[in-house]
Amino acid sequence: MAEPRWSVGINFDSKCNARCAHCCVSSSPNATANLDDDLVDNIVDELLREPNVREIGLTGGEPLIRRARTMSIIARITASGRVASCVTNGFWGGHTPSRRPSPGRVRGCRTAGAHAELRRLPLALRQT
Ligand code: SF4
Repeated sequence: MAEPRWSVGINFDSKCNARCAHCCVSSSPNATANLDDDLVDNIVDELLREPNVREIGLTGGEPLIRRARTMSIIARITASGRVASCVTNGFWGGHTPSRRPSPGRVRGCRTAGAHAELRRLPLALRQT
């Protein structure tokens, strides 16, 4: 059987702690477009049943302002043996290590491009 090849991204919440002029998805702290949590869970379940799916990515907005929710989805994906990815602006990189996503669970993290403005953004707009 051929190796699974699909990489699928889910843009589940447009809210972001940044307000970049170049943002192509109109994200900002005031953005309200989002997918219902139950719908996202159903989409992930369906993707995990699809043998051609190799990777499921989470994006927004800034997924890690909903850190617990995002890490929970990532845990479900990786527990199934699939690759999980998360597109983040890296705002958490300048905060205390205890607030960063667990390093043991993060691979391929490229934070070198995170700039000073993003590191000074509020840690979270909401906790879920
Ligand atoms: S950090 Fe990314 S998602 Fe957030 S406003 Fe900037 S470009 Fe958009």
